[in-house]
Amino acid sequence: MNQAKKDKTRLSEIGEFGLIERLTRDLENINSSSRYGVGDDAAVLRYRDKDVLVSTDLLLEGVHFNLVYTPLKHLGYKAAIVNFSDIYAMNGRPKQITVSIGISSKLKLEDIETFYQGLKLACKTYGVDLVGGDTSTSLTGLTISITVLGEALSDEPVYRNSALENDLICVSGNLGAAYLGLQVLERERKLFEGEDGTSPRLDGYEYIIGRQLKPEARKDIVEALHNNNIVPTSMIDISDGLASELLHISKSSDCGCHIYSDKIPVAKESAEAADEFNMDPLTAALNGGEDYELLFTVGLNLHDKIKQLNDISIIGHIVKKEKGSLMISPDGTGIEIKAQGWNHL
Ligand code: ADP
Ligand code: MG
Repeated sequence: MNQAKKDKTRLSEIGEFGLIERLTRDLENINSSSRYGVGDDAAVLRYRDKDVLVSTDLLLEGVHFNLVYTPLKHLGYKAAIVNFSDIYAMNGRPKQITVSIGISSKLKLEDIETFYQGLKLACKTYGVDLVGGDTSTSLTGLTISITVLGEALSDEPVYRNSALENDLICVSGNLGAAYLGLQVLERERKLFEGEDGTSPRLDGYEYIIGRQLKPEARKDIVEALHNNNIVPTSMIDISDGLASELLHISKSSDCGCHIYSDKIPVAKESAEAADEFNMDPLTAALNGGEDYELLFTVGLNLHDKIKQLNDISIIGHIVKKEKGSLMISPDGTGIEIKAQGWNHL
């Protein structure tokens, strides 16, 4: 985006096919299931005797992202990651994506190429092939729709509906950081827009802003579980906040859950930022969004094995439905978990 505007190429100069050619000419497929990618009416994938996982995600400018503070390369990276995360959450491996974009008139060729650099970096990092898409102009903002395909690592994919009483509830990484990063970016947005000529103050917030703008999907966790022969009984990715995801598992598994507030992992940087915003860091963890960590359950017998793995916290256990879905404080009081959610609608 730093290239001067006048040096940039109007899309009308190269046309739709010219644009697609520019965006896709350096793609090389690395997965054997990707038989044929860009260039025909459909991509051809070959999965023999395998469950294929499919998920799709829509990102709209002004609803899901703000280009004032979101670099296009980061946006491309994140757009891919959020899709990969849905496949990992099924205990799968993402293998292919298709990318459909509606391009607003303010974007030039170089901007879209920058967006694709982020997409391609994510694909390379996670071993995914970009095998197609669709391209159009948008009369409103930038529109991004990505579909991801993947395969299960275990014999069966891991669903949300199969948690069992007494299972341990586990979460990867730490929670709330992405939401707090967004609060900092929103606070500084007016300065980004240059209203009073000062520049935004983002020093010291690198970690939480990074979690918002350039999240990672937990491929490493899914692989660590696989390498240790652990198949979760249920799993979901945390895109809408811990509370909402816990309730998804409880509801679809027809059970309750008890989690312990002092076990919920929160980074030091998040706790500090929450303090500045006069917010309980647990509120950010429970009701913030976009952490893209994994929430999963395992049998109680796997307690010691899970304890040995890096970056996984055991935060509670599954109970009978009648016992409710509660967060229990160190003094023993339980409060009902409610989904405030991170609902854009
Ligand atoms: P169709 O007329 O069948 O929709 P297109 O001309 O839109 O075909 O696309 C031609 C090829 O380019 C197809 O293989 C399609 O998947 C691919 N393609 C189109 N847009 C994109 C994009 N934004 N990113 C990646 N591949 C794309
Ligand atoms: Mg098309």
